[in-house]
Amino acid sequence: MSDTIQKYKDYVMTGFVKAVTPIVVDHASGATVTDVNGREYLDCFAGISVVNAGHCNPQVIAAAKAQMEKLVHCASYIYHARPVADLAEKMAQIAPAGLTKTFFGNGGAEAIEGALKLARLYTGKHEFIALQGSFHGRSFGALSITGNMGRKKRGGPYGAGVAFVPAPYAYRSQWPGDPEECGRQCAHMLEDVVRFATSGDVAAFIAEPVMGEGGIIVPPKNYFREVKKVLDQFGILFIADEVQSGFGRTGKMFAIEYYGVTPDILVTAKGIADGFPLSAFTTRLEIAAAYKPGDHLSTFGGNPVSCAAALANIEFMEKENLPARAAELGEHVMAELRELQRQHSIIGEVRGAGLMIGVELVKDEKLTPAPLEAEAIRDSLLRQGVLVGVGGSYGNVVRFQPPLVITRQQIDRALNAFAAALAEVAQPAHA
Ligand code: PLP
Repeated sequence: MSDTIQKYKDYVMTGFVKAVTPIVVDHASGATVTDVNGREYLDCFAGISVVNAGHCNPQVIAAAKAQMEKLVHCASYIYHARPVADLAEKMAQIAPAGLTKTFFGNGGAEAIEGALKLARLYTGKHEFIALQGSFHGRSFGALSITGNMGRKKRGGPYGAGVAFVPAPYAYRSQWPGDPEECGRQCAHMLEDVVRFATSGDVAAFIAEPVMGEGGIIVPPKNYFREVKKVLDQFGILFIADEVQSGFGRTGKMFAIEYYGVTPDILVTAKGIADGFPLSAFTTRLEIAAAYKPGDHLSTFGGNPVSCAAALANIEFMEKENLPARAAELGEHVMAELRELQRQHSIIGEVRGAGLMIGVELVKDEKLTPAPLEAEAIRDSLLRQGVLVGVGGSYGNVVRFQPPLVITRQQIDRALNAFAAALAEVAQPAHA
């Protein structure tokens, strides 16, 4: 066993996977990571959907290095730092219209906490509504609004004042062939929950515009429009958690752009700085003004190096038109995967937006989840030198979320490996 793996066993607390993947990563570039033995892997998971502009993107690294030579930390909410100001201005330009003020933190959960608190202060109300199957992070508030027992188990009881509504998961709904109806009915259920399951004191509804950990669930096109009607009726804010779906991942800079709805608060992290730790929530002036002196701070939040990296990252995305590239490559990947679906009945559904793609595996026509097969496919891909994720509420969704700079050739290599993995694990459709 390598020294690094042994030290992990002895000294590192690993609280997620049963066994950390037996790779010791040494370096990475673009869409490949290389282990200490020189074996190269094609990375189709991007460090959990983070390095959208590619591993060690030269422009991002150059900006971070230049900033590092000058200033690493200064307590960005007590003193001014140029990279924070420049990045906040850039966020105002790329965020949905009207969202012009940003608070920077370090990770997704921290930004979620800040957004929830802000929503309470602004509305003077206290409850939240979230989706079943959602994931918003591992801190107490974020887990309280997370609708996924797999992520919450053994940590409860959680915070009170949260009601959950069914996610617009058309494939497993009563309306699998009619996503619009699913969208309408799920918005109806939201209205019922507001009326009958809350005290009427609801500050915000929070949702991922494309659900990541829940299994790459893409809400029907009408869903957020229908939801917004309900929210407006009751004066409830809409928080869009774009921690995973943001920064070009889905083929738009932010996934909510697909829905023609503007959130009140946009939460981002992961892809914001191509791997440097940073998160943000961005909102309208009047909502931001609800934070009064003393209300909010983060010691490392708005770290100048992370902010400089984020600005270079966003400029790279704009220059290279990465969202459009993700949209185009994503169409190709999904078309190929649907071709495989015709041959293998274990593929229940292929879905996604841009390069945020999920392949849901099922055992039969009753849609019995096939989590062991999903793991077996991931393991086979690992042996073939391709990294993918596995997720979903039932652990049966293979997740394909590569860096958006991945080449068509690399994608085709990954698809061939996926076909081989499938042939190992699954029975053909008409066997
Ligand atoms: N929100 C969403 C949608 C996420 O996917 C995640 C992480 O996977 C988080 C929040 C939490 O982010 P972090 O792990 O950076 O705290």
